[in-house]
Amino acid sequence: TTAALEGQVALVTGASSGIGRATAAELAAAGASVALAARREGELETLAREIESEGGEALVVPTDVTDEEQLEAMIETTVAEFGSLDVLVNNAGVMLLEAVADADTDNWRQMIEVNLLAVMNATHAALPVMREQGRGHVVNVSSVAGRQAIASASGYNATKFGVNGFTEAFRQEVAEDGIRTTLIEPGIVDTELQEHIPDEEIKRETEAWVDSLDPLTGQDIAETIRFAATRPPHVSVNELLVRPTQQE
Ligand code: NDP
Repeated sequence: TTAALEGQVALVTGASSGIGRATAAELAAAGASVALAARREGELETLAREIESEGGEALVVPTDVTDEEQLEAMIETTVAEFGSLDVLVNNAGVMLLEAVADADTDNWRQMIEVNLLAVMNATHAALPVMREQGRGHVVNVSSVAGRQAIASASGYNATKFGVNGFTEAFRQEVAEDGIRTTLIEPGIVDTELQEHIPDEEIKRETEAWVDSLDPLTGQDIAETIRFAATRPPHVSVNELLVRPTQQE
C-alpha cells in the first residue's frame, strides 16, 4: 500500500544524488518521514522541497559521514526532530578505482572511511535508539563488488566485502532485539559514482562498460529498498543482489 511506512522515520546517507536520492524520495512516497544526509546541502534542500511538494516530510541533515561527531549528530538530530529512527539506509559511497601499483593511498583511506567505517559508526550510533524502540532496520548498500573481486577494484572490493561481513555479524547480534538488516548489492547503476574515478583509463573503460548495457537506475534500487523496508516486522530480507539484465 502507498502508506506502508506511515509513522516511520527513515534516514538516508548519500541522499544528494543517485541511489540515495531516489531511495529517500521512494521511502517518503511510502509514507516515511525522511532525514537526508550528505555533504552537498543545496542538493538536499532541493530534494526536501520536492518531497514536501508531494506531501511528504523531509529533514536536511548536512553530514560528512567520515566525521564521527557529525555522524552521531546526524542520528541525534533525526531522533530529536522526528521522534524515532526506524530505517537507517547506509548508502553514501565512493568508488575510486585504481590498480594497487598506482594507488594513491589517500584514496584507499577515503573509501574505507566512507564505504565501511561510516557504515559501522552509523550503525553503532543508531543501535541504542533501535534497541530502546524494540525495532529498527539497518539497510547497507554494498555491491556486486562485495561478493566478486575484480582487477582494479581492490580497494573498493575491500570496503564492500567488509560491509558484507560487518552486516552479517551485526545481524546475528541484534536479531533477537527485533532489529532487521538488509544488504543491497547492486550491479551497474547509472549515477555520479563513476565520475570520481581518479585513473583516467579505468574511468573511460568503466564509463564505456556502463554505456554498453542498459544499466539500472537509482529508482530501480530505491524500489528494491522499499520492498525490504515494507515487509511485515517478522520478515527480514537479509540480502538482495540486483544486476542489469545484460551485466555478465
Ligand atoms: P553517487 O556518486 O551518485 O552518490 C554517492 C553519494 O554518497 C552522494 O550523495 C554523496 O554525497 C555521498 N557521499 C560521498 N562521500 C560522502 C561523505 N564523505 N559524507 C557524506 N556523504 C558522502 O553514487 P551512487 O548513488 O551510485 O552510490 C550510492 C551507493 O551505491 C554507494 O555506496 C556505491 O558504492 C553503491 N553502488 C553503486 C553502484 C553503481 O554502479 N552506481 C553499484 C553498486 C553499489 P555528497 O557528495 O553530497 O557528500
